[in-house]
Amino acid sequence: MHCPFCRHPDSRVVDSRTSDDGATIRRRRQCPECGRRFSTAETASLSVLKRSGVSEPFSRAKVISGVRKACQGRPVSDDQLAMLAQRVEEDIRSSGQAEIDAHDVGLAILQPLQELDLVAYMRFASVYQSFDSLSDFEAAITRLREESGGPHEAAQDGSHGPVRTEL
Ligand SMILES: [Zn+2]
Repeated sequence: MHCPFCRHPDSRVVDSRTSDDGATIRRRRQCPECGRRFSTAETASLSVLKRSGVSEPFSRAKVISGVRKACQGRPVSDDQLAMLAQRVEEDIRSSGQAEIDAHDVGLAILQPLQELDLVAYMRFASVYQSFDSLSDFEAAITRLREESGGPHEAAQDGSHGPVRTEL
């Protein structure tokens, strides 16, 4: 692997370790030309099987762009979106599958998005789960109220606002 600093075409591994969950190998490399060190990570490839039957590499950028649409006008930062996408990827990888259905990627997005912003969650879920009547929304809102009415309520920072005024 070439050096990212000086583009020297070779580098040597000075340290190699497996992450705690065993899903990643990190290598510390040193460039023999400029002497600088950098890290590489090796993970099993993860592909997403689309409804069309085509499979493509899992992409955090695609998760982010899908969720970003649902977050329009909401107080959700790029950092939060990046963290959500990372969590989605980790959740999927921890399942140990090499290929995952696109539908299951959507499923993996729902929980972290619910924790991030309830309105964005409702938008995403309504499209993803094909809500086609008011009763679908009512059922989802009832469930969210029940979940947020529990011991988690104190953890809500108030920036989410009540769902009822937003819909
Ligand atoms: Zn170098």
